[in-house]
Amino acid sequence: MTADILFYIIIGIITINFIKDKILDSLNAKHYNDPIPEELSDVYDEDDYAKSQAYKATNYGFNLWTSLFSFAITLAFLLLDGFEFVDNLARSVSDNPVIVGLLFFGIIMIASDIITTPFSYYKTFVIEERFGFNKTTKKTFLLDKLKGLLMLAILGGGILAVVIWFYQLTGNQFWLYAWGIVTFFTVFMNMFYSKLIVPMFNKQKPLEEGELRQKISDYAKSVGFSLSKIFVIDGSKRSTKANAYFSGFGSEKRVTLYDTLINDLEDEEIVAVLAHEVGHYKRKHIIFNLTTSILLTGLTLYILSIFISNPLLSNAIGVETPSFHVGLIAFGLLYSPISELTGLIMNYVSRVFEYQADDYAKNTYMAEPLITSLKKLSKNSLSNLTPHRAYVFMHYSHPTLLDRVRNLRK
Ligand SMILES: [Zn+2]
Repeated sequence: MTADILFYIIIGIITINFIKDKILDSLNAKHYNDPIPEELSDVYDEDDYAKSQAYKATNYGFNLWTSLFSFAITLAFLLLDGFEFVDNLARSVSDNPVIVGLLFFGIIMIASDIITTPFSYYKTFVIEERFGFNKTTKKTFLLDKLKGLLMLAILGGGILAVVIWFYQLTGNQFWLYAWGIVTFFTVFMNMFYSKLIVPMFNKQKPLEEGELRQKISDYAKSVGFSLSKIFVIDGSKRSTKANAYFSGFGSEKRVTLYDTLINDLEDEEIVAVLAHEVGHYKRKHIIFNLTTSILLTGLTLYILSIFISNPLLSNAIGVETPSFHVGLIAFGLLYSPISELTGLIMNYVSRVFEYQADDYAKNTYMAEPLITSLKKLSKNSLSNLTPHRAYVFMHYSHPTLLDRVRNLRK
């Protein structure tokens, strides 16, 4: 195996992945105008349906151009030895492997952020704006960007620095220590994400006493679920799209409702959505997902430790001086077909879990309000009612609306 062959394998992986995605997108787009299934005929009226068709077509075009652009940039960067250039730049500042690694990733992150920002700006202020979703101000957009970058620098940079340091100290044994750190971080974030990170971006306050809170408590009590932490978040600050999610476990478990969800849905529908979330918890989906992701991380780090000290990895992407940080990028590219595969499996499992959570809501509460809430949420996000099967199989973490309605009515 020479570096040249590895280089062409990497180019091949990136190209095949790009073509595969474009084929799936176009398959999906061919079905945008399929007749709407009987069960879903009440989701849109004629005007809204026309609007959803236009929204789908606009996004399809936008995604085509952005992905083509990023594919071209990635190939150009590889072919023009961009990694060698950035690595030399970082090495001109310091000899310390931790600092060089941090600078290397820092430069790449900032450059890619500068390149992609015009696209996300256009998506938010032109496309989402045109279809009436956008509520973000330019100030919020900019602040989100800066806060996101700062968090990435502190958390991502911190973990990277510690992992490189472990590698310097323990060689190929580093993966065990890295796994420990990443596991601690994952569990910690799962527990305290809502407490520590969310307040940086949103205002959240406990759901006020009243009919809705009472109905939620009554339901929770009826299934023996202690739920004292119910929060409302100002999602309307950024978008009209609605959401609800569950986070943490043990005494830290809490439910977060978007204010947009409370506006769009009736009380019974909100309780049904919560019953679905409680279903995820009761069926142990949250613990399963957490455990699986920790085990997968361990496996990936172990495989990484087998290859990371091989200089071929760095040479494969055109960098002469082998190093941990460059090897990490090359490994990430070579490993992507495997992570694609594990992603597929996780999507499949996630769709099974969604049915189980729906069944739980059906059995412990009611099916009908969940059906009407899912329909309203689909309508309010102008979602696609007729996705292609292959596209669903590859990309969807939730079953289609049609499949969920059919399952709930079974
Ligand atoms: Zn769910």
